[in-house]
Amino acid sequence: MGLKPNGNYKNLKDSYLFFRISKQVAAYRTEHPDLPVYRLGIGDVSRPLCDAAIQALHAAVDDQAEAKTFHGYTPECGIPEFRSAVAGYYARRGVTIDPEEVFVSSGASDELGDILDLFDVSSPALITQPAYPAYVDASVMAGRKVSYLTAGPENDFLPMPGDDTDAELIYLCSPNNPTGAVYNLEQLQAWVDYANARGAVILFDAAYEAFVEGDLPHSIFETKGAETCAIEICSLSKTAGFTGTRLGYTVIPKALERDGMNLNAMWVRNRTTKTNGISYILQKGGIAVFTDEGLEQIRENIRIYKQNAQVLMQALDSAGIRYWGGKNAPYIWMQCPGGMKSWDFFDLLLKEIQVIGTPGEGFGACGEGFFRLSSFGDPEETKTAAQRLQQLMLRVKG
Ligand code: PLP
Repeated sequence: MGLKPNGNYKNLKDSYLFFRISKQVAAYRTEHPDLPVYRLGIGDVSRPLCDAAIQALHAAVDDQAEAKTFHGYTPECGIPEFRSAVAGYYARRGVTIDPEEVFVSSGASDELGDILDLFDVSSPALITQPAYPAYVDASVMAGRKVSYLTAGPENDFLPMPGDDTDAELIYLCSPNNPTGAVYNLEQLQAWVDYANARGAVILFDAAYEAFVEGDLPHSIFETKGAETCAIEICSLSKTAGFTGTRLGYTVIPKALERDGMNLNAMWVRNRTTKTNGISYILQKGGIAVFTDEGLEQIRENIRIYKQNAQVLMQALDSAGIRYWGGKNAPYIWMQCPGGMKSWDFFDLLLKEIQVIGTPGEGFGACGEGFFRLSSFGDPEETKTAAQRLQQLMLRVKG
């Protein structure tokens, strides 16, 4: 008798990855208080917000100080200027999005869980693995069945649907966390064609789109037909350093319908019921990011992260270590040398060179034997870490 909690939580695996890393690092630091540690494990950014965003945030705070410029509740789906700014950002790459298809959010993580409200729990999720852990956990919490499509060196960490792939709700993340792999337009088109043929819906996580170079797609809406099968979830966290400031956006096309129900209209209903909008101040900061000046400034931050990635990749190249990613993503996914397991490799790096990375096994069983390095750190620290890594790898290999 009494209240019944959500029993699906019993089906969650312990979320031990970052907890275990911080515990092991803390223990090591207690034993070796004089040794510096070099952090290549974090998915958090280190550069401050760009000046355009800071100016706009300050101005918006001042607006709230005067009755004439004060703003109370903002529209739940986003203030029109923010929605238009995001639509304008897509238009720069030739993608037409109606501002009413853009929904403001407080970040991609929140949205990845909340958006599941749109789908009946009987529709299973297909998740490509290794994967950002939130995809699995949010689905399990909701009681949704999950199946996996595994990525590995054999498919360059870019799994594709086959004749036997059975999917209704599909998670794709490109550029990928943790592997750094990016689908090309042809591959994304194949996923979109598959989803349209099946009546499936793709949840496309574009959190790292700002790192994409050249002709590779930033958005699933660069393909033909995505408007009838895809939702794109994005955030200013990695694009513009908003990890601690919190702002994101989600694109749900008006043409996206299933079973006679319109998913854009459903999300309007959801947001107007379950939220009271996102801070006026933050949205003003976000609008400034999408101006010419803001985009120029965030590109400079991304350039610094990319330089870090370059330094790390050079170190791995000189040591003859195989890796993926790094070019169109802030993550480098390296093969652990000599067939080492990923947690053993974590221990080795911590003990021998005080470099902290992320064991691939934490992103799913098929991540075993791989290791994630992040380029989000401080450039000087990254250079030192890269040198130490290169020397150790040469020693280990023999
Ligand atoms: N999606 C991916 C693939 C991520 O790696 C992250 C954060 O690391 C997020 C979403 C969450 O981003 P946000 O800070 O917007 O919640």
